[in-house]
Amino acid sequence: MPAKAAPRIPLPVAEATYHHLESLAADVHRTYFFKYPPLPVRWGQQISRKKRRSIRLGSYNHLTAEVRIHPILNTPQVPAFFIQSIIYHEYLHHVLGARHNRRFHQYERAFRYHRESQEWIRRNLFLLLGRKRSEMPSRRLAPAAPVAQPVQFALF
Ligand SMILES: [Zn+2]
Repeated sequence: MPAKAAPRIPLPVAEATYHHLESLAADVHRTYFFKYPPLPVRWGQQISRKKRRSIRLGSYNHLTAEVRIHPILNTPQVPAFFIQSIIYHEYLHHVLGARHNRRFHQYERAFRYHRESQEWIRRNLFLLLGRKRSEMPSRRLAPAAPVAQPVQFALF
């Protein structure tokens, strides 16, 4: 009986992993959301690194109650507290709903490293967008007229 030729399925390339997402998520859950069952938190699908205008760093699927974190964050350049701030944000969507309203922002500030996280993304967003620092709009140059679609933002 001839052995069936093994189908040639390309093996997934092992992604270099740096942050242990499960531990980071468990910590956020234990600290802030222990009254709720823990949510599954996983890296999203790796897609090519390219120049972007914006990047969605995290998402919460309210149908499946799952959190996805952008795999671009899985590198030593990104501090653990920043990834946790994204996890925290997505948990808030689970608890408070989809809107970024005042209540949502109030709760956001309860994350221990909220300010550090905001500061970090302000300084490092260009890296995640695959840009040079010089391509990023400067805050000091307040444009009189709106600039056509500036490189902007991290969404989550
Ligand atoms: Zn959000």
